[in-house]
Amino acid sequence: MAEEMSAKTHGLGVFLELRKRLQSGLLVVGTSVARGPADVAVTGEGSSLRVRTPGGELRLALPAGVALEGGSCIHTPVGEAGGEELHFRLRITVGRREQDPAGVMETLRTEETYSFHCQGCATRLARGQVGSRVFKRVLPLPNCNWNAIVDEWCCHPDPFANKKLLPRAEDCLLGDTFVLLARDGSCDQTLTEEVSSVGAADAQDSKKPCHRLALISCASCSLVLGEAVAPGTLKLYITQVVVEPAVGDGKLDASLNRSAFLERTVAARLLDLSNSLSSFHFSVQTPDGKVFLLLWLLNGDSIIASVPERLVGEESSISPPAPLSPSLRAARALKLLYISCSDASAQQREIATSWEANSIGHAMVLPLKVCEELLQVLDESNATLPASMRCMRCYEVAYLRL
Ligand SMILES: [Zn+2]
Repeated sequence: MAEEMSAKTHGLGVFLELRKRLQSGLLVVGTSVARGPADVAVTGEGSSLRVRTPGGELRLALPAGVALEGGSCIHTPVGEAGGEELHFRLRITVGRREQDPAGVMETLRTEETYSFHCQGCATRLARGQVGSRVFKRVLPLPNCNWNAIVDEWCCHPDPFANKKLLPRAEDCLLGDTFVLLARDGSCDQTLTEEVSSVGAADAQDSKKPCHRLALISCASCSLVLGEAVAPGTLKLYITQVVVEPAVGDGKLDASLNRSAFLERTVAARLLDLSNSLSSFHFSVQTPDGKVFLLLWLLNGDSIIASVPERLVGEESSISPPAPLSPSLRAARALKLLYISCSDASAQQREIATSWEANSIGHAMVLPLKVCEELLQVLDESNATLPASMRCMRCYEVAYLRL
């Protein structure tokens, strides 16, 4: 047991979570960096936090306006749960409220020019007549269950049954995780289309008929971007394309890191959907309606930093000591509980069944590959947490940075 514990916590240097709304925070220091509470000294310096340990000194840059309340950092015993961790509680002051970062859905406006790029290789996708798109209408699509609701409200047969909401030539329709655009001639050079049948493995399940998806991919790097939902209509997922106001030559920084982009895009979307729907439960599904991940948004106001042991000790290992301590940036993040449906335990499967039975969880549809990437991002975040914080009841814990 003790060995298992040490293997799990191996590598933990310093973990910090601040809560803006509560104006408080938790600092966890691994016992490989400091043996006891007396070994740790925490001071604030404007918008940064200095953590001094025998293992080295660390300076964490906090977001503007956030500062440590002097002398508020106190050690709190955690018992067995934090076997190889030292926990400290602290209070912070928060100067001003930061705006939530705007995702692509909040960016798109009418009468402005945008260019759409593949997130994988930065190729411009829809060239249009003037090199980019100007929309006459940018409209949100109704909630994904709107058909069912119409059915409840109409005393006559649903007039919209089997009718899809499709964009006209200069429309941009916004779904929860995608945009719908009319296809134009330029798309033929930059996009490829491939029909794949999904849900075939569930053919016996009469509720989920096998259906075909016309997958749209980038012609230069083959990243799946979305689907052709009707002839002449493109569905592009917001995790797969970069939408930029078209200025100058419209060239895009090709160095965008894939997992960081995915993390930020999904985090911004979750926060926005949670605020507008007052919903904290999300079920991440593939386009054939299979639930892949359950997400429970716990906090939207966290500021976190996770520093592995080797970075804390970096300075002391250099001789003579470097003049500057390593400085790292604490970032805004969402705290999530999650369950991966593909490798769920018996208890987790029970939770998944109850979510499904009670229609808990707003559906967030993403291509299978993206669902897998998202799970990897969550698992990687989970692995950087102190061992005592990695799960909560039957859920795994992760943070998504905004
Ligand atoms: Zn590409």
